[in-house]
Amino acid sequence: MTPKQILSKKFRKRISPDNMLWFEKYQNESGDPSGYYLKVQEFLEFCAYKNNKDIRTIDETDVNSYITVLKSCGAKTPTINSHKSALSGLRKFLHSNYPDTFDERFLSELPGHERTDENPTEIKALSLVQLSYVRAYNRSHLKDNYIFELFFQLGIDKNDLVARNFPESRNAEVDEIIKKASKSDIELGTINSYFKRVTKYLRDHDAYDKSRRNINSYDLAEGRNAYFLRCPNCGKSFENVAKYWVLARVNIEEVDYQGEYSIVCAECKGAR
Ligand SMILES: [Zn+2]
Repeated sequence: MTPKQILSKKFRKRISPDNMLWFEKYQNESGDPSGYYLKVQEFLEFCAYKNNKDIRTIDETDVNSYITVLKSCGAKTPTINSHKSALSGLRKFLHSNYPDTFDERFLSELPGHERTDENPTEIKALSLVQLSYVRAYNRSHLKDNYIFELFFQLGIDKNDLVARNFPESRNAEVDEIIKKASKSDIELGTINSYFKRVTKYLRDHDAYDKSRRNINSYDLAEGRNAYFLRCPNCGKSFENVAKYWVLARVNIEEVDYQGEYSIVCAECKGAR
């Protein structure tokens, strides 16, 4: 049985002769599952319809538009994933056999397989392991470090950062970060580039789902909700890192009372 194409003719055009030559090489020489060929063909027909690019310059944006259109035509997650596998086959074949024409950047960031149980656009705090990878990455990049910490410590968004619209800080370390950031030139492009690089770093270490979008400032602000605790005594908020917290107990000689140890911030130490 020949599998049907998903996209209507409206979204497809004839593949250019040059792209067709590469497609035929893939079809004749790759040894990939035959079901992949029709999928790759369909993708190239979509690219011909979209912008008629040379295959060498097709990139992830084209793949993403393709997937969006597949979805709008009713394709379900397993189908989408099989199309991604086919494109991954195409990339592998062209890059391995024709590296001079298709270097390692060619479709190097293909979107990963989608899971059905999670919405990849949902705002989500980083896990502790992810947070640790992010900080390991930030260590050697001073500017990255304060971009990250400003979002994470202050819960601000991109526009506030660019406009240097910082809320009152909470501790000396954050004050230091704000001071450095105030002297530095941080633009939207700098922030976007940081999120792109750090997300790639996590993915390269298998610490971030490939089907999820890049980390953004809202995830970090969400992390602030997850990782920051409010001192019950003085009301200031600090990250759940041991150095910011102490155990204190109240001893009232006057009435001969000694309380239990409770957790309070290291700044007020439970004092009145
Ligand atoms: Zn306190």
